[in-house]
Amino acid sequence: MRNLRSRAAALLLSIPPLLAAADYDILIRNARVIDGSGNAWFRADVAVKDGHIAAIGRLNNSSATRTIDAQERVVAPGFIDVHTHIEGGVERNPRGDNFLLDGVTTVITGNCGGSELNLAAWFDKLDQRGLGLNVASLVGHNSVRREVMGAANRPASPAEIQTMQSLVDRAMRDGAVGFSTGLEYVPGTYSNTAEVVALAKAAAAYGGVYTSHMRDEGIHEIEAITEAVNVGKEAGMPVEISHLKIDRRRIWGASDQSLALIEKFRREGVDVVADQYPYDRASTNLGIRLPSWALADGKIKERLADPATRRKIAEEMKQNLDGMGEPDYSFATVARFTPNTTYEGKTIPEINGLKGRTPGADNEIETIFDLMNAGGAGMTYRLMGEADIERIMRYPFTAIASDGGITELGVGNPHPRSYGTNARVLAEYVRSRGVLTLEDAIRRMTSLPARTFSLRDRGLLREGLAADLVVFDPQRVEDRATYSKPHQYSQGFDFVLVNGNIVVDDGKLTNARGGRTLRHNR
Ligand SMILES: [Zn+2]
Repeated sequence: MRNLRSRAAALLLSIPPLLAAADYDILIRNARVIDGSGNAWFRADVAVKDGHIAAIGRLNNSSATRTIDAQERVVAPGFIDVHTHIEGGVERNPRGDNFLLDGVTTVITGNCGGSELNLAAWFDKLDQRGLGLNVASLVGHNSVRREVMGAANRPASPAEIQTMQSLVDRAMRDGAVGFSTGLEYVPGTYSNTAEVVALAKAAAAYGGVYTSHMRDEGIHEIEAITEAVNVGKEAGMPVEISHLKIDRRRIWGASDQSLALIEKFRREGVDVVADQYPYDRASTNLGIRLPSWALADGKIKERLADPATRRKIAEEMKQNLDGMGEPDYSFATVARFTPNTTYEGKTIPEINGLKGRTPGADNEIETIFDLMNAGGAGMTYRLMGEADIERIMRYPFTAIASDGGITELGVGNPHPRSYGTNARVLAEYVRSRGVLTLEDAIRRMTSLPARTFSLRDRGLLREGLAADLVVFDPQRVEDRATYSKPHQYSQGFDFVLVNGNIVVDDGKLTNARGGRTLRHNR
């Protein structure tokens, strides 16, 4: 009896631990770890458990439910894209395919002054739908001002400022990460600095950051940077200059002065950094080519119908074109024009020709007026020089960010930055041109943005932080989206994990929804 019992016990002990719980959920072996700090890569295994990074090191004797052999590929923190516009797109595609396949695991939306206003309700809706990536949001000045004052071209009254402040305050309590402006756009362009400071203070009270699409990104960029920094100083908050660039041919090269000014402010103790997308074309609406007074109160059609006003608008547009150093509108390509999608992908001079008009700025302005009368258009504008792009990228405190949105595959002719920003930096600016080291490029996609937007549990590969991870081969990673064929996903991000969920598995999207809203609290 005794013998039997001990034999049974021996049998039990000899059963391999098939049913025993594995040490980890996921184990990535044989990786070169780039941890997001900017430090040189090192060899290690990375273990994930319960959505977090559980261990980094030599984990030979550990088991996991799923093991991924990195085969010497890089493992890095998932990329944090701090400059996006996903409102609208995320409701249609809550997985965010174009971002995930470009290595992005967290986006910050609500940039350039445009955001949802009832963030608590919006965040709840997104969490219920099930997000592919993590989403945080700023509260936008233009959205707040439009809610209170419409598109009025005048300063805000004290009562209006108070109402706007209460909207910013509510959004911050709902978890916004800061306050954004788009001072080149209607209606933010009608505001003065005092108004911006008053609203920024409401965000600063909750530890928010101030991000600004500045009033000017060309001739008056120095004044615009100074205004952005002064808002941060007066409100008492850090500043992020959005999509830093020099957007006119006539002053290409002036980025050295912009960066010197930013550096001067930093030395004086101002916390100011920038973000950038790695392309020579901007992307925005057609209305931005018109003088802002012409767009006030949404009355562009009425103004164009009045011959004298129409002439005045055309005159200012021609002066502006001269000032940019552009002979005509061949820098301007239609990206989205729903009344006639055959215009998408064509330049303004090409559309001008289709309309039977002779070439030249005067007729092209008439063509622009036609498009504005039909409701306006989404555009790309070839405005930046490579020397400025590279110089801004080399600046140590420039983060990589797309300024993109969640796309619908095949719809419209969007800017390729929504698909390829991070892959393009790694393929073109790291691998081909050697503008940045791989480790420094990753830092600008991870820990630098996490720092600025107070995402304290992400952006670094450290035990205990959220398991947002990308696995890629730096020799193979490649952006494929181009201006003429934008609807192409990046290649080479073989595995992407969001909060410990595998959302890209061997290069293919899975059905896992690993993302969630990230609500800021002080
Ligand atoms: Zn912008």
